[in-house]
Amino acid sequence: SSLYRIDGWGAPYFIANSSGNISVRPHGSETLPHQEIDLLKIVKKVTDPKSSGGLGLQLPLIVRFPDVLKNRLECLQSAFDFAIQSQGYNSHYQGVYPVKCNQDRFVVEDIVKFGSPFRFGLEAGSKPEILLAMSCLCKGNPDAFLVCNGFKDAEYISLALLGRKLALNTMIVLEQEEELDLVIDLSQKMNVRPVIGLRAKLRTKHAGHFGSTSGEKGKFGLTTTQIVRVVRKLSQSGMLDCLQLLHFHIGSQIPSTALLSGGVAEAAQLYCELVRLGAHMKVIDIGGGLGIDYDGSKSGESDLSVAYTLEEYAQAVVASVRFVCDRRSVKHPVICSESGRAIVSHHSVLIFEAVSAVKPMAHHANPDDIQFLLDGEEARAKYEDLYAAVMRGDHESCLLYVDQLKQGCVEGFKDGVLSIEQLASVDGLCEWVLNAIGAADPVQTYNINLSVFTSIPDLWGIDQLFPIVPIHKLDQRPGARGILSDLTCDSDGKIDKFIGGETSLPLHELDNNGGGGGRYFLGMFLGGAYEEALGGVHNLFGGPSVVRVSQSDGPHSFAVTRAVPGQSSADVLRAVQHEPELMFQTLKHRAEEVMQTKGGSDEGEEEEDDDEFNNVAACLDRSFHNMPYLAT
Ligand code: PLP
Repeated sequence: SSLYRIDGWGAPYFIANSSGNISVRPHGSETLPHQEIDLLKIVKKVTDPKSSGGLGLQLPLIVRFPDVLKNRLECLQSAFDFAIQSQGYNSHYQGVYPVKCNQDRFVVEDIVKFGSPFRFGLEAGSKPEILLAMSCLCKGNPDAFLVCNGFKDAEYISLALLGRKLALNTMIVLEQEEELDLVIDLSQKMNVRPVIGLRAKLRTKHAGHFGSTSGEKGKFGLTTTQIVRVVRKLSQSGMLDCLQLLHFHIGSQIPSTALLSGGVAEAAQLYCELVRLGAHMKVIDIGGGLGIDYDGSKSGESDLSVAYTLEEYAQAVVASVRFVCDRRSVKHPVICSESGRAIVSHHSVLIFEAVSAVKPMAHHANPDDIQFLLDGEEARAKYEDLYAAVMRGDHESCLLYVDQLKQGCVEGFKDGVLSIEQLASVDGLCEWVLNAIGAADPVQTYNINLSVFTSIPDLWGIDQLFPIVPIHKLDQRPGARGILSDLTCDSDGKIDKFIGGETSLPLHELDNNGGGGGRYFLGMFLGGAYEEALGGVHNLFGGPSVVRVSQSDGPHSFAVTRAVPGQSSADVLRAVQHEPELMFQTLKHRAEEVMQTKGGSDEGEEEEDDDEFNNVAACLDRSFHNMPYLAT
């Protein structure tokens, strides 16, 4: 297992067991030996239609482990609880899970359920996300935060305000100054007192790939000038008490606690300034960024690793907030974080199969086959040069002559002078020479039953690497090295970079090439965050609308011959296993409950309540049926 660094990136959830297979330890370091689950057994069970309970599923396969999710949440919470206790911090930690990391219904529902004892909440960044977060949180802890980030239009803000009507703890985080007018206007119209947060653009900049959202020129958040204007406007509208949260996010996969502490301290200063300006501040939301050690190096030297543990991360955050607030004599805020990657990365494993392998060419050189080379003067000279270089053991010249001989023969083939058999013989000879001098490429291409674009989009999009390991045969020395080539008809559909800076992976020879029938399964680990979500519908913005336009008679005239609307919020929610009809009912039911408890008994008030209920239902209905994009 050391070949694949499993101990580095896998701990405490993945280990190589005594049968040479990978086992999952669903409760992390708390897992007892009899609780370990052998991945190969899962694959056999779910793929075999004959075994009892077998489902006959096809690969590729995502195996989810809810217990891992539970363990991650609990570890994060206890890391903060411990830091808070040991540093004498006078408030608590209350995190949220950004649903964009993986919006799968069962992932989100599990997080709400497992996090309920410690008020763990959700973060949403688009209209379908807020719909799903509201409906999931109806079953969660009533104090859990629902942090509403992202670009917002009137419909998004109405939904967030409606959340408060439904007794959900929604907080509208302003990402752009223009959003404030909508919030003020709609909250008055809807008669809701909002809880408002600000996303600040920090000067602290994360230099890695995931840090492009940070710094003064970052994509999101308010500058200091804008923050000052927002405070003034809230004050003028008599709503400064609604401003209660300060948020920032300097990027995912923060490499070191030094950078983290810098960002948190800067934000804590801003927090204290907002307190000084009269806002009723309660929460500092430090965004995401808690990183994962994909390569097991713990070096923090690239986007693939981070140089801290969960515990060190929590200690650094608490220390920075405490230091700044104490110096300014400001009451310690509730600390919220929006860790996505760190919560969901480990909980699923993508399993796929290598179906065949293309070996480097067979290397033999039969003198009869290359006799023709001796017949032509030019070819003969090249052949003799090569032969002499081989005899001298002059590798550099060998490479040069192999190249020249090949080129010459390809020209000959193109001119119709050489036959395909002759060209094949020359290729065979060259391969033989390269092998003889140890310069042949021994790397095989393993064809895998997977689409990299669908299942590991970040690998193609941003060169992100994930640990990839055979899930069995780890007690046998791999006899080959390989790169992986996927099923798609696209040259980018391959994996030829691996953790540890390797350009090929140690792999076992396939039995099935010789008809042996043995299957070879590989697992991709730590891809539970973003990979499913990106491969599907990022942030749950579905596909665009599509129209078909043809030219028709008359100058500059055309006809729209087909118009297909883009996916609605309900459509994209269905794609991640939610049931929009059920969600709609849940939310309507919640509205009924809330309105009954506060309900008026007079006839006039009852009518008002009916109107109110109908408005809520209509707003929800619209939001499910419209597209998730901003309504402009
Ligand atoms: N919060 C915001 C605003 C984000 O943009 C992101 C993602 O980049 C996250 C939270 C989640 O970050 P991470 O997965 O690094 O925890």
